Amino acid sequence: MSESSFDVIVLGAGAAGLMCAAQAGARGRRVLVLDRAEKPGKKILISGGGRCNFTNIHTAPERFISANPHFAKSALSRYTPHDFIALVDSHGIAWHEKTLGQLFCDGSARQIVELLLNECAKADVAVACDEQIGRVDHSGVRFAVTTQSQTVDADSLVIATGGPSIPKMGSTGYAYDLARQFGLKVVEPRPALVPLTLGGEDVLFRELSGVATPVEARCGKAAFREAALFTHRGLSGPAILQVSSYWQSGAAIAIDFLTDKERDWLLAEKRDNPGSTLRSVLRAALPQRLADELAERLSLDGPLANVPDADLRVVGARLADWRFQPNGTEGFAKAEVTVGGISTAELSSKTMEAKRVPSLFAIGEAVDVTGWLGGYNFQWAWASGWAAGQVA
Ligand SMILES: Cc1cc2nc3c(=O)[nH]c(=O)nc-3n(C[C@H](O)[C@H](O)[C@H](O)COP(=O)(O)OP(=O)(O)OC[C@H]3O[C@@H](n4cnc5c(N)ncnc54)[C@H](O)[C@@H]3O)c2cc1C
Repeated sequence: MSESSFDVIVLGAGAAGLMCAAQAGARGRRVLVLDRAEKPGKKILISGGGRCNFTNIHTAPERFISANPHFAKSALSRYTPHDFIALVDSHGIAWHEKTLGQLFCDGSARQIVELLLNECAKADVAVACDEQIGRVDHSGVRFAVTTQSQTVDADSLVIATGGPSIPKMGSTGYAYDLARQFGLKVVEPRPALVPLTLGGEDVLFRELSGVATPVEARCGKAAFREAALFTHRGLSGPAILQVSSYWQSGAAIAIDFLTDKERDWLLAEKRDNPGSTLRSVLRAALPQRLADELAERLSLDGPLANVPDADLRVVGARLADWRFQPNGTEGFAKAEVTVGGISTAELSSKTMEAKRVPSLFAIGEAVDVTGWLGGYNFQWAWASGWAAGQVA
């Protein structure tokens, strides 16, 4: 076999591509990974605030979004968070659970990139960076990839070039273009885990920029209890990022500002502290600027003793179900991931191989499977990369 001939070419030296390459290499396949960036794993390096939230122990298929919610089940069940934790442990990388099952490196995300590169080196995988992929040809049997510096070919081709989120890191929709070249359908991609922007009447909330508070944020059937943050453009914070993945243009999101209050808590306040005002009770429960803004909008003046119970019930219900009508998102520039991508209908859920193009695979964020915030997206990258690596 010449140096330009391989068994497997993986396009993209990110989380999924490196996992897949190491697995295929460990089976004795001759593997080449090509990436156009100057170094591998750039998104891993910046992930989790530099500590890489590399998995989530609560991984379950319901925590992933896809046109086919069943698709991710097979890969996720065959390569679990415990498998990745065992790999991390075998490399002596110290880690901790931060919150909600999210596991982070104690040290640095660099350790995860080194782990993947070590696994690739052990399996004799060649990793070539700074490679601009010009064209991909398919003879029907072998795939040929031409870059600015070489033409290489292989039996199998793996698309692992991720999604278009954070274009300033070099992310593009290349995976979709390539998939379409092979006749595979692509589910319309849109930014996910992304701040939402506010306009219209809600614009005034922007004055609360910097205020954070625990909430329950809801969009359709999805509900997340975490912090929300008001920004100069709208809403962010983990609860909002989570619902943003479910949000579609034109829809409203609902916020419960007082998740730990009983349904008729304002009536109890009226009974126990009849001289208190809505503003004062909200100030006791919420950041002051937010309490004042909400009290202003609810325009319920005077002591609670003077307010009819029915009005207090209405106000209580509003505070538990405050509607915002986002006018957009901050877009791919600020999106941690992409919802949509290469249609799962085109792929085997067991191997990630294209049903209509034998030996063509798609893995990771390029595929229409998107995880919640909190380590789920890397777990999908590991699991889908592992699945393809068993057969590619
Ligand atoms: C700021 C930020 C923080 C994040 N933090 C976390 C976290 O803590 N936990 C978590 O689970 N998820 C996190 N994510 C999401 C996670 O990084 C991705 O879901 C994951 O990296 C996807 O893996 P991938 O291998 O599919 O794609 P990527 O890791 O994006 O890798 C794709 C690779 O393909 C290369 N490539 C792209 N186009 C081409 C091309 N045309 N030719 C050749 N190569 C190309 C890229 O250079 C890149 O190396 C974060 C994302 C961002 C943006």
